[in-house]
Amino acid sequence: MAPRALARVNLAAIERNCARLRRELDEATTLCAVVKADGYGHGAVPSARAALAGGASWLAVATAHEAAELRRAGLGGPILVMGALSGEEIGTALDAGADIVAWRAGFVARLAEHAAQRQATGPRPAGPDQVRVHVKLDTGMGRLGTRDPREASAVLDAAASSPGLAPAGAMTHFATADEPNDAFFGEQLGRFCEWVSEVKERHPGVLVHAANSAATLRDAAAHFDMVRCGIAVYGLDPLNADPAARALEPALELRSWVADVKPCVAGQSAGYGRRFIAERDTTLGVLPIGYGDGWRRALTNNADALIGGRRYPQVGTVSMDNVIVDLGPEPSVHPGEEAVLIGPDGGEQITAEEVARRLATINYEVTCGLLPRVPRAYHRDGEPA
Ligand SMILES: *Cc1c(COP(=O)(O)O)cnc(C)c1O
Repeated sequence: MAPRALARVNLAAIERNCARLRRELDEATTLCAVVKADGYGHGAVPSARAALAGGASWLAVATAHEAAELRRAGLGGPILVMGALSGEEIGTALDAGADIVAWRAGFVARLAEHAAQRQATGPRPAGPDQVRVHVKLDTGMGRLGTRDPREASAVLDAAASSPGLAPAGAMTHFATADEPNDAFFGEQLGRFCEWVSEVKERHPGVLVHAANSAATLRDAAAHFDMVRCGIAVYGLDPLNADPAARALEPALELRSWVADVKPCVAGQSAGYGRRFIAERDTTLGVLPIGYGDGWRRALTNNADALIGGRRYPQVGTVSMDNVIVDLGPEPSVHPGEEAVLIGPDGGEQITAEEVARRLATINYEVTCGLLPRVPRAYHRDGEPA
């Protein structure tokens, strides 16, 4: 019997998505797989291994603890921590031998102090001898980083002149790569190119990187030395459209099972607040999955489930632990049958993109939102992983 709710992750799909992204790139361009937020809900460590097997050679995360988790699992190779770091988190990131992003000279000075302390107390457990620093220029995202290219250059110079530190990367991040006809993408790219030509003169060895998944698929001019792909690695579409149209293969399926089937007479209600009242005699099935699993309450009267290859509407309020499906007056569904909430079944399919549209959000939030109560089961095209 299947557990109440289960996320099945096909590691072979992650591998193929990475190979597909690699084919988009020149030989000289490196693929960095972004496995932050527990691999967008897919599980960071198994996803990272599959991405590396598929042709990625770098990993990126948002936090120092995410980098530490990858190292604890025995993953070597370069890891980039992209997010802001508190003092304590700097220590964790350095213990993990991760590359670090800086955007102010003051932060570089703090990094240098940490590096010096470490030199005094012995070698770091993992990674290169020097702390490798990537400097981020804010070309228009308006989030982390300085907007001033001179300041960004000065931060790289500071890394170059600090003992224990090495300038390793020059980067930016796009705000509108997923909006196909938006001119702002080109403006950001232009600003970045201008800065990069100057950076390359002073620090020819630095790795230049800018593109997320959308930018990688959109414009080879944004590839530079490395691309940082997250969403596409998992086979989800960066534009929240059909992944198959861009030859991406969703790796995650969300399943539950039919725990009970019972008749519902016209006029009877189901669920909290009686937000479903049967207009005709019908049959209801109960699936033991709810918002306590990350199946959001905003999907109330606004989602489907696939059972036996057929689509049925979910009805009534999503509870913490259960949802209800309307199986119709003459159901062919029996208790114990599997129900698919995300994924294919027969000729039907429910994508994370469909769920996202129903929630007025993006696919990223759907898979990241699956809670730890849902076990992840790994396989390779149906074979044990
Ligand atoms: C999350 C993130 C990425 C990956 O973006 P996707 O759209 O998932 O490919 C790349 N770069 C930075 C700085 C990020 O924060």
